[in-house]
Amino acid sequence: MFQIRRTDMGGHPAQKQKSAWDESIRNEQHEQTAHRPGAVDSAIQQNCALTRDGKELEYLTFPLLEQTKIVRHLFSTRRGGVSCGEFSSMNFSADRGDKRENVLENFRRMADVLGCQVEDMAASHQTHTTNIRRMTAEDRGKGILRPRDYCDVDGMVTNEAGLVLVTFYADCVPLYFVDPVHKAIGLAHSGWRGTVGRMGERMVEAMAEEFGSRPEDLYAAIGPSICRDCYEVSEDVATAFLHMLGDEVAVPGEVPGKYQLDLWLANELILRQAGLSPSHIAVTDICTCHNSEYLFSHRASAGKRGSLAAFLGLKEAKD
Ligand SMILES: [Zn+2]
Repeated sequence: MFQIRRTDMGGHPAQKQKSAWDESIRNEQHEQTAHRPGAVDSAIQQNCALTRDGKELEYLTFPLLEQTKIVRHLFSTRRGGVSCGEFSSMNFSADRGDKRENVLENFRRMADVLGCQVEDMAASHQTHTTNIRRMTAEDRGKGILRPRDYCDVDGMVTNEAGLVLVTFYADCVPLYFVDPVHKAIGLAHSGWRGTVGRMGERMVEAMAEEFGSRPEDLYAAIGPSICRDCYEVSEDVATAFLHMLGDEVAVPGEVPGKYQLDLWLANELILRQAGLSPSHIAVTDICTCHNSEYLFSHRASAGKRGSLAAFLGLKEAKD
């Protein structure tokens, strides 16, 4: 069920075999949601690489996006970084109390896996908006190595090869977009506020406007985030989703007046309504909250946590 790809980092060939822990991620801990209708077991692939100092680094990829052959991408896990305590060990947030040098080393390790430099990366400034910014080579390093000159940017699009877009997570939904026809990409952060604001559709519109992308040509991935069973919301939030997307996106919870919201399904429905083919959408079956030892979860940790990151860049022609 799990495929493991080896990545050779810095000339140190990966040697270790993966242990059995990964079987628990979707099976034991996650039986209820792992096999929900529509979720494909192989939507996400678990990967293992060795860092330069011989530590095992785990990351996740979407075969659907790899198949386009024009992007490098991944979603981080907690394993393989240098941060300690609640940030252990692969934390990408520099503003939650972790040491900046640790965060930068974690970025360096991911750059090794991606085959790029940290200097090539540019980060969002997430505030639960549906604002989208077209990123260019001039933005390289922003939000990671140097200050951003933009704010309130939850979505980014680009058609410049070599630039790697970065967004941050700890339960909210990562949305990846690839247009193999126009060679353009998008990456967006979509929590409940972004999702009720139809962030996925806004991204499709932004890519149409900026690059001429057609919805039917787009590939999208809905990344690891909080599942329906773990995501209790108030009635007003649930009502907004039920009105917009129908009965299946939220179900009454065990606590009166509370609902369980399915952000995975909500984002999938929005992408379909925006014109994407169902066969062009990969949906996570890994929940951050169920797997908070493996992935950072805001809910599971009551806010004491680091941040995961999504990375997406267009390959350069020589790659
Ligand atoms: Zn869950």
